[in-house]
Amino acid sequence: MLLEDLATHCPLHHDALNDGYVIISYGLYRHSAAFMDAHRNLFPKSRLTVMGGCMVQDEIIYRVRYCNACRNAHFQWATQHHSFAGLPHMAEDFERILHMRFGMRTSVHTVPPEVHELMRVRKLVNAVKVLQGANPGVEIPELRAHMRYLARSEELEQAVQMMRQGGPHLACGEHGITLLS
Ligand SMILES: [Zn+2]
Repeated sequence: MLLEDLATHCPLHHDALNDGYVIISYGLYRHSAAFMDAHRNLFPKSRLTVMGGCMVQDEIIYRVRYCNACRNAHFQWATQHHSFAGLPHMAEDFERILHMRFGMRTSVHTVPPEVHELMRVRKLVNAVKVLQGANPGVEIPELRAHMRYLARSEELEQAVQMMRQGGPHLACGEHGITLLS
């Protein structure tokens, strides 16, 4: 295999790489030496998640090139070793995690349509007041946090759509946990 093929082909399996999207994992992760070893030797291009560092940044998803054979090898290894290292979120957890990370508050049940309009014209104090009226008993900091989520909700829904179409997910099936690509 030629050096110039490294961007398009798996160095281990020599298969052509596929394009996909993965969610960026923020936080400090320290993988075991056993995982790092397996990653290097058995599934170097599984790319089921990417690390974003410990500070949460604006980026939500990341475009990757991955190898199908690597993903299968990674999943096989994870199953054998009962390890979730480097694996993506469960499909049903993914949206909740994404929404929470960007400030969604479950205490805010009702968002009147005018809140979006007020936010659009940058009348944020009025937007908080309307939100507070619709959600009595919810504290101002909670409402403000939820508004930060609302400001990005369209972008988040787009990310969710992209992940549904092209992102890897784990799912619970009758034979235990399986990988949905
Ligand atoms: Zn591979």
